[in-house]
Amino acid sequence: MKKIKIIDNVIQYIEDTNIPTLTPQFNVLVKVRYAGICRTDIGVANGTINHPDNIILGHEFCGTIEEFYNGETELGYWRKGMAVSCNPMMFGEKNFDTMCGKDCDGAFAEYIAVPSAALIGIPDNLLSPLGAYLEPVAAALAPDKFLTIFSNKDICVFGDNRIAELTLQVAHYMGHKEVRLVKEITELSSCKYDCIIETEPQYISEYIDALRPGGTLILKSRAFTPYELIFNDVAMKEISIQGVRYGDFNVATQILAASSSGENCVLNTEILFGSIYELSEFESAFKEAEKKNSKKIFFRICVE
Ligand SMILES: [Zn+2]
Repeated sequence: MKKIKIIDNVIQYIEDTNIPTLTPQFNVLVKVRYAGICRTDIGVANGTINHPDNIILGHEFCGTIEEFYNGETELGYWRKGMAVSCNPMMFGEKNFDTMCGKDCDGAFAEYIAVPSAALIGIPDNLLSPLGAYLEPVAAALAPDKFLTIFSNKDICVFGDNRIAELTLQVAHYMGHKEVRLVKEITELSSCKYDCIIETEPQYISEYIDALRPGGTLILKSRAFTPYELIFNDVAMKEISIQGVRYGDFNVATQILAASSSGENCVLNTEILFGSIYELSEFESAFKEAEKKNSKKIFFRICVE
């Protein structure tokens, strides 16, 4: 099986005959069509994110169901050949703290063993890079439930990167047309906001500064490194700090399905999507994905 592994902190491409073994917990074998490179993969690959040694990278993917544990022909709603993606945080017993590609084997491989609870069914026409984009879209949906309370107020997404761009596109689709994108820190400082959705953690004090009293800072980035915060500034302005994780994966699937139809396309994939590589081209793929303003880079895996 073709795969990309981290061995002794070195990223490697391997071809062998080992296919993942199914267990009562990891009970569905998925044949991977496309997978996307995320900042998490880069962090695991360069050692800034802790991870067990000898794991397969990748948590954003789509594919088809190949097999069930114990040779079953079906499992509840699931049937062989169904198109699926997944919620990558549902790989542990607590469904919260275990991510595939970071804490256990991921999807930069021809096959991945997935707990059935993590599966998300997708339409067949999303067996493309769009289907592998489900997790970023679900993450971009996460601020949505907090934005309703700020309708007609000053809201911005801050960041000069594709995550900020995606968060903006998803917020507009969800009806929050007032949300603006701010890319430069000088531009942010020239206005006051009721709500800021950050995607670049290093500007934490600038965000607190740019918020009006009573405002909310939504933490969208998932930095693993600490940043300094002056508590007094937060206390005196009565700022709320709200972490966000994921929105509804099924709504995210609808957004992707609407984007594949071409009519009233929700996501502008021309802005968001970059090149597609083979797994064996992982060095070029990671080099491209590491660039600051990189678009989403994908691997084409089991595609005839
Ligand atoms: Zn991701």
